[in-house]
Amino acid sequence: MITGRKLLFGIGIGIVGLFVGLHAVSADGHPGSRGRDYYESRGKIVWEVPTERPWIALTFDDGPDPARTPQILELLQKYEAKATFFVLGNKVSQYPELTKREAAEGHEISNHTFSHIYYRSGVDEDKYLLDILHAQDMILQVTGHIPRLFRPPGGYYNDAVVDAADRSGLQTILWSWHQDTRDWSGSSAAMIAGKVLDNARNGDIVLFHDHTDRRAHTIEALGQILPELAKRGFKFVTVSELLGQSKLDSMQRNFSTQDELITEGSHD
Ligand SMILES: [Zn+2]
Repeated sequence: MITGRKLLFGIGIGIVGLFVGLHAVSADGHPGSRGRDYYESRGKIVWEVPTERPWIALTFDDGPDPARTPQILELLQKYEAKATFFVLGNKVSQYPELTKREAAEGHEISNHTFSHIYYRSGVDEDKYLLDILHAQDMILQVTGHIPRLFRPPGGYYNDAVVDAADRSGLQTILWSWHQDTRDWSGSSAAMIAGKVLDNARNGDIVLFHDHTDRRAHTIEALGQILPELAKRGFKFVTVSELLGQSKLDSMQRNFSTQDELITEGSHD
């Protein structure tokens, strides 16, 4: 016979179970995976790079695209902006000249897999790793440079994704949560520009796409974003520059701490 107390206990366990289940899934969409804090505190994944300098990293995914990428490159050049392109290996193989142009104009070419493979449960881990390595090889062949950064398609991450990137010699990069422009969804230029300009902070990593399946207003929005951020004194840098800056910042902090210690010591 089930007593009222037992029933209540059972329901309680059920709710806790549901809660734990939901929590585990909500971390990044993958059951049982860990959340942002875990990966960020270990430097396994970068969402943004807090710095005192007014530096910001614009990133473009899923290209190169023969119609849109050249227009984006022209706008970037006009505002002396350097950006990071998370390219797809299959697009690099289709448009090698465009990829070379991105690199020649000082932008960073980074890995976004060969075929835009999503890491979802059931995906073959070896297949995922091979897709990253395939892109890495294609980018090297075309640009002569080995990419250092990786952005997982769809932003899906877990231990296996980070491990595949690590094994390929790549640092995993996502984007600032307050700088997700959702330009791929058909957002208006005003919405995209508003998102970036209302939230711009030093060290942000902004997510755009230079290729989307539907009509996007990214280029129009960039025409508003670039002059306004330049006016506010922002410098547009690559993600690797931003990461290097953060290392320099912490080295400087360490140096000044040592200075203080030495100075204090000399008073004795
Ligand atoms: Zn993508």
